[in-house]
Amino acid sequence: MAKILDYPLIWLQGAGCTGCSISILNAAGPTIKNLLLEELIPGKRVSLRFHSTLMAGCGEEALTALETTRREHRGGYVLVLEGAIPTRGNGRFGSLGERQTTPVPIADRVAELGASAWTVIALGTCAAYGGIAAAAPDVCRAVGASRFFRSLGIETPLINVPGCPPHPDWFMGTLAGLLLNGLPKPEELDEFGRLKAFYGKLVHENCQRRAYYDEKKFAANPGEEGCLYELGCKGPVTHADCPVRLWNGGINWCAGCGSMCIGCASPWFPDLVSPLYEKTSDVTLPNIGAAG
Ligand code: SF4
Ligand code: SF4
Repeated sequence: MAKILDYPLIWLQGAGCTGCSISILNAAGPTIKNLLLEELIPGKRVSLRFHSTLMAGCGEEALTALETTRREHRGGYVLVLEGAIPTRGNGRFGSLGERQTTPVPIADRVAELGASAWTVIALGTCAAYGGIAAAAPDVCRAVGASRFFRSLGIETPLINVPGCPPHPDWFMGTLAGLLLNGLPKPEELDEFGRLKAFYGKLVHENCQRRAYYDEKKFAANPGEEGCLYELGCKGPVTHADCPVRLWNGGINWCAGCGSMCIGCASPWFPDLVSPLYEKTSDVTLPNIGAAG
């Protein structure tokens, strides 16, 4: 019988709401069962070693699994980071387990586990760029993974999978790509560390309401016919494939059901795309027209 290759995966949660985990649990194909119990790619499967909300183990048993994976698979496991990293208060805003009765700050865990990982997937806008956790007044001084690793000189390859929450396909596709082809080539990532396969185009470029925008036919209320730009749609400044991928197993997406894109996958979300439900100051869109 052919040998199956196991890829250990540690899933760490920082300052977040667990919404990214919930989104992945709702994956339509492959499903979470396919991911956890079967081969994601023929001959290759993921071995989930630690996930605070999914694992049955707890306490010392769970922390031992975490430490053992880091020790025995140095340079060979995937670290999925969900939530931002609080850098203030020495663990007061987030810790995981204890050493000699002292709580271990989540920032220390991310640094240790990130430095020894094969690759890190920063899942969700908080993990990638700070997101909601880093929104003003940012009491815990939350940062995303790339900024955090840069500050410590950690050079482990990092892939950002933003979204609030991220689409399950963006995560499953990223993971499947790692198992199938190894680390992405530099040209496959954009300047914000995202895979161009999922974030290569503006939401606005593929939006079904785009013809209304070009004709300057704008909706006055959410749900009405017309482009939602005047109501605050951030599609013209947000890169993601939501209009063609669709959400909830291919049913619909934000502007498709009459709501605005709030720019949840943007590195600038939420502060710099706020107010979310007010028209963005006019933006010039190279090659694809200008907002009027
Ligand atoms: S502004 Fe929003 S609703 Fe209008 S075309 Fe662009 S993405 Fe679609
Ligand atoms: S359309 Fe915009 S707000 Fe909606 S999920 Fe995609 S990036 Fe996020």
